[in-house]
Amino acid sequence: MNIHGFGEALGQRIAATRLGARFLDEKTFEKEVLVKTAWELSRANPEIRVFTHPWKRKAECQPTCEAAGRNFRNRVEGCPACWKRSKKRNVADVFGMRNNFDVAAVDQAEGSLVVEVKWLRFKENKGPNSEFQRFVGQCALAAAANDVVIGVCGLWGRREKQLDEHEKPFQEALEKVGVRLVVLRGWA
Ligand SMILES: [Zn+2]
Repeated sequence: MNIHGFGEALGQRIAATRLGARFLDEKTFEKEVLVKTAWELSRANPEIRVFTHPWKRKAECQPTCEAAGRNFRNRVEGCPACWKRSKKRNVADVFGMRNNFDVAAVDQAEGSLVVEVKWLRFKENKGPNSEFQRFVGQCALAAAANDVVIGVCGLWGRREKQLDEHEKPFQEALEKVGVRLVVLRGWA
């Protein structure tokens, strides 16, 4: 499997998630759906290495990350050394600004993928426009440094009038630059 196949499988699984009250918090989704799914896919396809946030964890791969990278069993999810290494491959540096992402993966040819997650909410019939625009910008930045980008937006609530005429062309436009946008709607 290369990074495109991995992105396809990961994107499909994320898109199949039902956003219930359990996932009101972005971090819960990140840990229980995104990280879990990416790690399981990597277990099934060990030629893909997945890098996840340490969240203050200290355990590292043994004896070294590079050695562990050759055998899934020796890898440690959330290894801070792996996370640091992934930064070298996956960050997007532009105009003096460094842009980081939530989960990263590489294939054996150093083809790379990142996932950006953002939870947004409609409030009193008003959309979270500026935050959404910022999220889309982060996805575009990610595309500068990575072969595959998955942008996951958890969008909670709704406005009375649905404004959705350009959703499909918008997603197609993003696909042209390598961004797969997954919007999960939640009603809690
Ligand atoms: Zn490691």
